[in-house]
Amino acid sequence: MTDQDKLLDGNRTAAAIRADVAAEVATLRGAGITPRLDVVLAGDDPASRVYVGSKAKACGELGIESHTHELPAAVTQRELEVLVDQLNADREVDGILVQLPLPAGRDSHAVLDRIDPAKDVDGFHPHNVGLLQQGRPGLVPCTPAGVMELLRREGIEVAGRRVVVVGRSDIVGKPMAMMLLHAHATVTICHSRTRDLAAVARQAEILVAAAGRLALIGADHVAEGAVVVDVGVHRVEDRATVERLFPGNAKKLGTFESRGAVLAGDVDFTAVAPRASRITPVPGGVGPLTIAMLMANTVRAARRRRGV
Ligand code: NAP
Repeated sequence: MTDQDKLLDGNRTAAAIRADVAAEVATLRGAGITPRLDVVLAGDDPASRVYVGSKAKACGELGIESHTHELPAAVTQRELEVLVDQLNADREVDGILVQLPLPAGRDSHAVLDRIDPAKDVDGFHPHNVGLLQQGRPGLVPCTPAGVMELLRREGIEVAGRRVVVVGRSDIVGKPMAMMLLHAHATVTICHSRTRDLAAVARQAEILVAAAGRLALIGADHVAEGAVVVDVGVHRVEDRATVERLFPGNAKKLGTFESRGAVLAGDVDFTAVAPRASRITPVPGGVGPLTIAMLMANTVRAARRRRGV
């Protein structure tokens, strides 16, 4: 197998998911229903602005109506909660997404907990977290749902296999582990207190890295033939690190020259790829799946709310 054949191509899977969603939206629109996503963007975090722009663009491409509610960094907790209440009450709104992080000092749990669970397309509301825990249908977090979809569509068997998830956040690690468990994997969750991470990770037939630490996972963390999924995203802005992570990789260096940075993951791709049977690249791996699953969740919410 060449390195190219090993790649778990997130762009390809995201395009397939989007095509399915677009077809569903077309059917719904034919029946007079236009799914609608409302995004709350508070403050002026540049990365958040880019993410929200990508979400709105994806909605437009798939026929989903989208509205972005921009609020100043000085927005009060009360104002945020009033807006969520209004969106909850608006019968035309199918999905509500509050872009994180909120401006400093705002209580994001209080805001997220206020979202109607039926419109909670991020799947962060405790009601939906509980449904996921129990394996009951609900709205589930987009990034781990995207990883499950990638594994499924690439024909990677999960049932009965040993899976290690590195990271235990509420957004990625924990829901990822729960979804894998429901898919009948034997799951180990690692975190910053895990002793001898490499030894635990080497047990994995499927290794999911979601630690938010650049190149944490090296060759000694990966068993020969493992499937490696890299959720981490890091902007690398220093040349020496780019040269260390991607030695002799003219393409990466070219990107660095033209853009002043390259993206890299939690996995040291150069070191790990030769050992892995399949591996996601960064960029072009898990990243594109998150927005695709957000679109899928919005349509799901629309169907469930409207009983179609
Ligand atoms: P997070 O909230 O910072 O959580 C990181 C987790 O990794 C924590 O549970 C932490 O353990 C664990 N960890 C940190 N250092 C570790 C180490 N040395 N060994 C073992 N575990 C370690 O991050 P997150 O929100 O889950 O995101 C993780 C990564 O995914 C980030 O790079 C983020 O940018 C990326 N991400 C990508 C997408 C996408 O669409 N592609 C979406 C979401 C997130 P403790 O709990 O003990 O602190």
